Amino acid sequence: MSEAGRPVKTTCPYCGTGCGVDVLVRGDATEVSGDATHPTNAGKLCVKGAALGETLVPEGRALHPMLREPAGGRELQRVSWDTALDVVAREFRRIIREDGPQAVAWYVSGQLLTEDYYVANKLVKGFVGSANIDTNSRLCMSSAVAGHKRAFGEDIVPVSYEDLEDADLVVLVGSNTAWCHPILYQRIVKAKAARPQMKVVVVDPRRTATTDAADLHLPVRAGTDVWLFNGLLSFLYQHGVVDTHFVDAHTRGFDRALAVADNTAGSVRAVARQCGVDESLIAEFYRLFARTAKTITAFSMGVNQSSAGTDKVNSIINCHLLTGRIGKPGAGPFSITGQPNAMGGREVGGLANMLAAHMDLENARHRQLVQTFWDSPCIAERPGLKAVELFEAIEAGRVKAVWIMATNPVVSLPDADQVKRALAKCEFVVVSDVMHKTDTTAYAHVLLPALAWGEKDGTVTNSERRISRQRAFLPAPGEARPDWWALAEIGRRWGFTDAFAYDGPGQIFDEHARLTTFGNADDEVPRYLNLSGLVGMSAGDYDALAPVRWPVSGQDGSDQRPDAVSADAFMPRVFSDGRFYTADRKARFVATPPRLPMHARDEDFPLALNTGRVRDHWHTMTRTGLSPRLAAHIDEPYVDLHPQDALLSGVREGGLARVSTRWGSLVARVRTSGELPRRTAFVPIHWNAQYASDARVGSLVNPVVDPVSGEPEFKHTPARVEDF
Ligand code: SF4
Repeated sequence: MSEAGRPVKTTCPYCGTGCGVDVLVRGDATEVSGDATHPTNAGKLCVKGAALGETLVPEGRALHPMLREPAGGRELQRVSWDTALDVVAREFRRIIREDGPQAVAWYVSGQLLTEDYYVANKLVKGFVGSANIDTNSRLCMSSAVAGHKRAFGEDIVPVSYEDLEDADLVVLVGSNTAWCHPILYQRIVKAKAARPQMKVVVVDPRRTATTDAADLHLPVRAGTDVWLFNGLLSFLYQHGVVDTHFVDAHTRGFDRALAVADNTAGSVRAVARQCGVDESLIAEFYRLFARTAKTITAFSMGVNQSSAGTDKVNSIINCHLLTGRIGKPGAGPFSITGQPNAMGGREVGGLANMLAAHMDLENARHRQLVQTFWDSPCIAERPGLKAVELFEAIEAGRVKAVWIMATNPVVSLPDADQVKRALAKCEFVVVSDVMHKTDTTAYAHVLLPALAWGEKDGTVTNSERRISRQRAFLPAPGEARPDWWALAEIGRRWGFTDAFAYDGPGQIFDEHARLTTFGNADDEVPRYLNLSGLVGMSAGDYDALAPVRWPVSGQDGSDQRPDAVSADAFMPRVFSDGRFYTADRKARFVATPPRLPMHARDEDFPLALNTGRVRDHWHTMTRTGLSPRLAAHIDEPYVDLHPQDALLSGVREGGLARVSTRWGSLVARVRTSGELPRRTAFVPIHWNAQYASDARVGSLVNPVVDPVSGEPEFKHTPARVEDF
């Protein structure tokens, strides 16, 4: 609990920017302000962060464990934690015994703290022996993870926020940074104001708040990014903008990547035609990129959420490898993560195709290292089901029990009506959530009350690999408990008492930090994720941990104690020695033959539906929907259309329209903002049955995924709009 007059320092629970927050609790009032000492935001907060205090209300909270009894009964009944956990442990164990470990699954979230994520991953991969644990981060940045691993050998983000300010050219691809990462955007705008020679290029089919700061906007046709960056690769090569020494000494695969680029996008004219952008704009972008050494290409959901998402990421990285613009100040490819702890989840192996501590599931030595470290009876030996596959497997009856934590897949997954069907059929559904009634808790056989922001305690990692503490400053409401505790209780009930005997998040973090060092120095290719400098922290050290970017060991491998790691004194420059984390320490060019979105528009569905965030809401609004101030910005679901498409569809500005795809439909208010190109539509992701009658955008989205990353194609579903 905060003492009057002394703010508690914590971290915003929304976007991957990861701003520091000061909280002062005075009686019933909670004052929230930006943490002036946090290196990310230096005291600033965006409107969502500033309204956090308004969301700390008791309305709608899940306060007690609930059980739907008898099985199939309509109502959830309050039970004790012991009863609820006994049922969960018994039912999961029964299904594992009868149908094997692949018949159970976990679907978790980038909203979890790293410590929660760590325990979930350990329980499933080491003690169930399955990798059927995936996360809603699959929906936002798994293409970036896959792209990093293909190019660098490890999932490493080689850029810091300072680099964005230091760059002479910032290319923002598929990112409405102004709305989705506002403080990061403000840092870019401020740097540009201070150094007018800095240029910003925005690549986005839509005109957005972000394009306001752009020197150049390329409104490319949805799904054509690979053509754009393949064309750039060809252009750079043709014009001699090549760091020959870097390519020869530190990379492999260039010839094939260039051949594919030349064959598919070998001229500016061909790229312009494919991308639907004026040739002069493409040429201007290419020339700008060619002549600017300090270039950052920052990308977000417009790149990742695609059936070609991983290739899009690699087509961007290819251009940075060709020019040697990586590992240097103000230069590099930069994945901006969506959620507050997507990165922390990646560190502890929260995806179905990863092990903890950036170790590989498909690497026998890594599996053995992790199993030895955990002293676990088994270890998952093959990748588990990725998010979309997971819910398909539930509907098909192959997965019979699922535990959903801190996420609302009935709203957020593609083909969300399929998710409803799957959960309705599922033999046993456990949901851990802070809210009692969500579209997903409606299907729970067991509902476990979780701690919310301000009540839970642990760490998160932002887009630039900075670990920050989330600290509790409020008492737990009702009987809500930490997620890591509920998971550990299941481990104990299964007889693994020692492995799950945690006394708090600090002990879990220490285990995570130790695992990052375990066997690491002995490997021919040591893992970059290394927290050796944070091993052995006392409870006081952990509590006081200042925001710090990993790795937290010197580049020379020497340990640094937390107090020696001032946030800005230590800024590791990834890949500055030209060494990557592949077997031969060389980066890989990846050949990226371009392909269009999986489902094309047609006569019945003539519009390409794009989905995304609005400025003042987060995910499915379970928190931001509680703030009147935030709701006032945009207070109902809408569909944005080009005015001519509105006319052709027979709908008008301000009227109601039905938006339909082959997968579902919803009703929304029509906007004709003028921000969209022809033959497209945009619907925000946030609204759900709690706030508008079944306006779940997930029900519209095609369940198409990238074949490498498994990330869904949220940015392109054929749709039509009709008067309602
Ligand atoms: Fe929170 Fe992101 Fe806003 Fe920062 S920019 S205050 S992390 S929502």
